[in-house]
Amino acid sequence: MAEEKKTEEFPQFERAMIISAHPDDPDFGAAGTLARLVDGGSRVTIVICTDGSEGGEDPTVLDAELSRVRYAEQCAAAAELGINDVVFLGHPDGRLEHTLEFRREITALIRKHQPDLVLTHVPAINLDSPIGGYHPDHLAVGQATLASVYPAARNPRAFRELLDEGLEAWKVKEVWIPTWNQGDFFVDISSTVDRKIAALRRHESQFQNWENWEQNLRDRMKQIGEKSGYEYAEGFKRIKIG
Ligand SMILES: [Zn+2]
Repeated sequence: MAEEKKTEEFPQFERAMIISAHPDDPDFGAAGTLARLVDGGSRVTIVICTDGSEGGEDPTVLDAELSRVRYAEQCAAAAELGINDVVFLGHPDGRLEHTLEFRREITALIRKHQPDLVLTHVPAINLDSPIGGYHPDHLAVGQATLASVYPAARNPRAFRELLDEGLEAWKVKEVWIPTWNQGDFFVDISSTVDRKIAALRRHESQFQNWENWEQNLRDRMKQIGEKSGYEYAEGFKRIKIG
């Protein structure tokens, strides 16, 4: 007997923004869902906070060269999903912290782009989950983004200097945090899984053995699907904001 579906109807939003630490993070966690948002008519913006210069294991590659390659890979991956709005903040990879200045930067972005839905990293370590999801840059981005969504972006008294830049307070309606199979909201990505794979494949500099990666990724998305009654799924913690 199939497991009970833990799913709800897939909602659509006029504008969505995914705020990630590194090139390839949006695609690992949410590319199938981003493609579904695009298919439904959402305007999707991808924000990459670091320059990606610590990706890979070759210490002889110049930071600037690796960043250039990874930015191009992220833009190509986004194009596979039908997204052409990619913002690179360029912070040094591996050194991101949730400072007030970083929170202000994310708040300004949210106010400028006015997304109804924001996707970002898990903001806290869960020791029962694979450690790969808890890169310190991910934690910093997750924390700064949640702090920006609530309360800074919506509170006109927060970062008041942003008003002088024409950045009015903005209320994000929902936050979705990719949590693999531990979420409480599962998105059917059976119609977009091939685009997710195509997007991930664009991050060529990060894969030594693509065939193994592809099989592992498909298996993981199938496992999440089994939990939610779909062929392939991505899982999220869904936060609705009043
Ligand atoms: Zn990352």
